[in-house]
Amino acid sequence: MRIVIFGPPGAGKGTQGVRLAEALDIKHLATGDMLRAEVAAGSELGNLAKQYMDRGDLVPDDVIIGMIRSQLTGGDGMILDGFPRTIAQAQALDEALDGASLPLDSAVYFNVDRDELVVRLLKRASELDRSDDTAETINHRMDVYEEQTAPVLDYYRSAGKVTEIDGTGTMDEVFQRLLQAVQESS
Ligand code: AMP
Repeated sequence: MRIVIFGPPGAGKGTQGVRLAEALDIKHLATGDMLRAEVAAGSELGNLAKQYMDRGDLVPDDVIIGMIRSQLTGGDGMILDGFPRTIAQAQALDEALDGASLPLDSAVYFNVDRDELVVRLLKRASELDRSDDTAETINHRMDVYEEQTAPVLDYYRSAGKVTEIDGTGTMDEVFQRLLQAVQESS
């Protein structure tokens, strides 16, 4: 099963993605986590990516696609979290999956109001040491989402792949909605 979990920063994709991958016993591929590991390792890719991440900008498509491409087609499937974030990335994913004759089952969209997202991200900033969770970058990341990433939702809508869930409520409530959405789409 191949599922994209999609939504704005702070929508809860990471937490729910890990749980869903465990429940389905498939890989959880999160480009943000992969990039943070590269930054922590001080690799060339990490040093390059950090400049974009700290500003709240997207890391260039060629870097992201190069980093994740080889992992898109192996195994029994995967939960993609934080990828694709641009139309070019969505097209690269389609090409990789089409080339391997593997369909994308669905893109689950977590719907959460922008005001609620900002509150959540500021709370996360006080709990975790993430250098891109400052008030300034949070607003910029929201703008980047609306300009560059929201069009990916329309791309998947046109392909009839989107299942929308309400991303508000407790973690358990959201997880139950996510599980149901995935079961209905497979
Ligand atoms: P995340 O943990 O998914 O919120 O990602 C943190 C940061 O990593 C983002 O704000 C971007 O700077 C970068 N990033 C993660 N995934 C991608 C992606 N698919 N394309 C471009 N940049 C990304």
